[in-house]
Amino acid sequence: MRQKLVVANWKMHGSSAFIRGFFAEFAPAGNVVICPPYPYLATVAAACAEKGLEAGAQNLNAEPQGAFTGEVSAAMLGDLGVRYVIVGHSERRSLYGESNTVVAEKYHAARAAGLVPILCVGETLEQRESGNTLQVIAEQLAAVSGEAESPWDNAVIAYEPVWAIGTGKTATPEQAQEVHAFIRQALGAEGQSIQVLYGGSVKGDNAAELFAQADIDGALVGGASLKPEEFAKICSAA
Ligand code: 13P
Repeated sequence: MRQKLVVANWKMHGSSAFIRGFFAEFAPAGNVVICPPYPYLATVAAACAEKGLEAGAQNLNAEPQGAFTGEVSAAMLGDLGVRYVIVGHSERRSLYGESNTVVAEKYHAARAAGLVPILCVGETLEQRESGNTLQVIAEQLAAVSGEAESPWDNAVIAYEPVWAIGTGKTATPEQAQEVHAFIRQALGAEGQSIQVLYGGSVKGDNAAELFAQADIDGALVGGASLKPEEFAKICSAA
């Protein structure tokens, strides 16, 4: 039986004052991961440990160490007590040129260091409208699995249709379920146990119907995760 999981992706939002306020107000329910910007990771990891939550990073570099100014390795995240890391978010793919190959390298570096990667996949509006959704997702998954043995062990997948991110346009539960079922089937035997989250305009009032779908195991939440009360509502729907 797969457990539900709700992940907050704060993106480039927040401040020390915001974090104090958030944890003063946020009453967690269930399995919750908070992914703040890097400078706040240690603070958030400590606050999460106190509340029985997990901390996650939004990105990592695939190299173990070296002259890579501005970058952060998987081992550094582990050292801070961070357990999860988002990999291949569509904003990283589109704004920072991360190809399927780069995403795969990051994914495997995270797993090798004992972190749980949250691999984001999803199609653009143009790809959906031209009927290519499942093909795009299959390619994004295949790039990561490659020839690796048990590539989906100790990992999470997040289906985030690009057209639903930050737009207020959530995929319908049926649209999301179709892709989630496809992802699970594409992963073979490992597909039955892996958590597949939905992301894209998840809010307090649409989370329950998404979570009611057979193959949706929780959510990766952007905007609504910055509002403690609304985020708590999403968590309690899981
Ligand atoms: P929104 O919830 O703001 O649409 O963002 C989704 C997302 O990108 C989470 O990673």
